[in-house]
Amino acid sequence: MTPNPDPTDASPAPEKNDFIRQIVREDLAGGKHAAVRTRFPPEPNGYLHIGHAKSICLNFGIGREFGGRVNLRFDDTNPAKEDPEYVEAIKEDVRWLGFEWAELRHASDYFEVFYRGAIKLIEQGKAYVCDLSAEQVREYRGTLTEPGRDSPFRSRSVEENLDLFRRMRAGEFADGSRTLRAKIDMASGNINLRDPAIYRVKKVAHQNTGDAWPIYPMYDYAHCLSDALEGITHSLCTLEFEDHRPLYDWFVDNVDLAGDPALYQPLVDAGFTVPAGKPRQIEFSRLNINFTVMSKRKLLALVQDGLVAGWDDPRMPTLQGLRRRGTPAAALRLFSDRVGISKQNSLIDYSVLEGCIREVMDAAAPRRLAVINPVKLVITNLSDDHAETLRFSNHPKDPGFGERDVPFSSTLWIEREDFMEVPPKGFHRLVPGGEVRLRGVGIVRCQEVVKDGDEITELRCTLDLQSRPGMEGADRKIKGTIHWVSAAHAVAAEVRLYDRLFNVPDPDRDEDGKTYRDHLNPDSVRVVQAWVEPSAAGLAAESGVQFERLGFFTADRRDHGPGRPVFNRTVTLRDTWARK
Ligand code: ATP
Ligand code: MG
Repeated sequence: MTPNPDPTDASPAPEKNDFIRQIVREDLAGGKHAAVRTRFPPEPNGYLHIGHAKSICLNFGIGREFGGRVNLRFDDTNPAKEDPEYVEAIKEDVRWLGFEWAELRHASDYFEVFYRGAIKLIEQGKAYVCDLSAEQVREYRGTLTEPGRDSPFRSRSVEENLDLFRRMRAGEFADGSRTLRAKIDMASGNINLRDPAIYRVKKVAHQNTGDAWPIYPMYDYAHCLSDALEGITHSLCTLEFEDHRPLYDWFVDNVDLAGDPALYQPLVDAGFTVPAGKPRQIEFSRLNINFTVMSKRKLLALVQDGLVAGWDDPRMPTLQGLRRRGTPAAALRLFSDRVGISKQNSLIDYSVLEGCIREVMDAAAPRRLAVINPVKLVITNLSDDHAETLRFSNHPKDPGFGERDVPFSSTLWIEREDFMEVPPKGFHRLVPGGEVRLRGVGIVRCQEVVKDGDEITELRCTLDLQSRPGMEGADRKIKGTIHWVSAAHAVAAEVRLYDRLFNVPDPDRDEDGKTYRDHLNPDSVRVVQAWVEPSAAGLAAESGVQFERLGFFTADRRDHGPGRPVFNRTVTLRDTWARK
């Protein structure tokens, strides 16, 4: 067993043994690598979501378990869509998940190396400048059942290609007018090998390199060479890249960075360590969860069209949203362990995530009392100014959480739902003339129901003084126990009751002219004014808490503060969707 590095993890981690870890273990045991290196390579064109958490936990988890190094690498080869705002959020998210990178790299750090690699391919007759338009390239490419046709520019001489490519780099040609393509095989059964583009002309300023480059490398070219430069041993990616693997290997083998240090000398000169090697790409299935959309495009649209309050809206599946809602990072790590790694595409039930959150918060969150839909309860056999301080334990299972003072008085708030004038069968809480236990106080009997029209305004009760803790009748059996807060002491708090953002399991399925936008759950947030006991109001922002009988809540990261308590419902105590 590897020791559990994080004591806030709910369960000790058994040694993980998915097919990727098996490969890593064999490679280390067989001496193929002295140490393992992985990377997490986000494109800074959006916020990270829970799918990325799976990849982060896999890459950084392997680094941690096998004593390897993990790089955070921004795949910033497409400047038009990228933004420093995303870069900062991604770094924050990875750290919040509990991981730290060995080195922070950018694909753009390697632009000069990529360029030299391309020159090398041209010199070897393995790449050519092509003047076909994007549309013509598509026509020439063929289909799954028909081979492609050679571009008329495929037979250009090395000299002409070198000249044209250098002029592409010098900015002489317009966007889209020319590409550099790998010369592989237009008849390949794998369309990715039909002379894929390596470089395109794009006169767009880049967030890191400014106007230095009028050409940008394609993902398939830049990604594998970045892995090779960083000495990545196991390049882990999602299944859709399986068909790209032959191309990945082709670039790695033909550019051969490991065998040609002159190519990356500029990096060495600039002070980078370059443990160049031959990476191996391994694919695993991506995470899909029902009741959720995960495409960056759809998430962006939700934000831009104001359908949610922002990237960190607590209903969003973004890491910023999950965090704001109160999801503990440990719950996401537990979730990604539980989902596991395989090559099988599957759809994970949202309740699995909620179960992980409950498990972690149950162990980690102190208990407090709060009433979110209050009705007044007056204890008539205590004086109006009765004041007491009760001691409550902060956690029913873990004495390590200690105890706290809870003020008690003769006027309380209880939940409106805990009283019913005409109770259904099996209702064990308060009814006219009936008894219920007030948590930590004793048993009260409802003697009178005060109303204003139809609305109940007050429940007048007597407290059985013999049923109070420490008294002879304290153990008297009674079916229901309800929670309360002292009206004179309770602090008004804003409570945001969140639920799932979509109300159908598959919001991505477009049917009957409907899209994911038509499946937004109208009840996904309800804001109420609640009463919380004083010690809840004082919790720090982002603290998780269980409001007894109500659910797990978290003090809002941004809006909660002294004098203005704001709590987000992170998850209900039980799965309320299973029945629906
Ligand atoms: P894009 O379409 O913009 O490329 P992407 O979701 O692949 O979107 P990246 O920033 O390229 O975004 O992803 C970074 C890493 O996270 C990649 O290695 C990718 O395979 C992985 N990843 C993305 N989505 C998931 C997912 N749902 N499950 C597991 N891994 C994922
Ligand atoms: Mg991607």
